[in-house]
Amino acid sequence: MSCYRCGALLTPDEIAVHRKLVNRGATRHLCKRCLAAAFAVPVSMIEERIEYFRRSGCMLFAQPGKGEQGENTGNHGRRPAEG
Ligand SMILES: [Zn+2]
Repeated sequence: MSCYRCGALLTPDEIAVHRKLVNRGATRHLCKRCLAAAFAVPVSMIEERIEYFRRSGCMLFAQPGKGEQGENTGNHGRRPAEG
């Protein structure tokens, strides 16, 4: 899934915050930069929103410590999401 305006690859958080701020049923989404531009706010404000929703326990957002998906067989050293 990528931003329909600039084509940037979207993170699940960006998709979630778009749904929260724009349209819960949105089928296409903006990255946080384009979202910030659309709302005429700094990108940091979008990031704050993401953190706010995450802290408030919104299921749309990846929860800290609960992001792992089952199967703990073997230590393959999965790489954490890179920046
Ligand atoms: Zn974009």
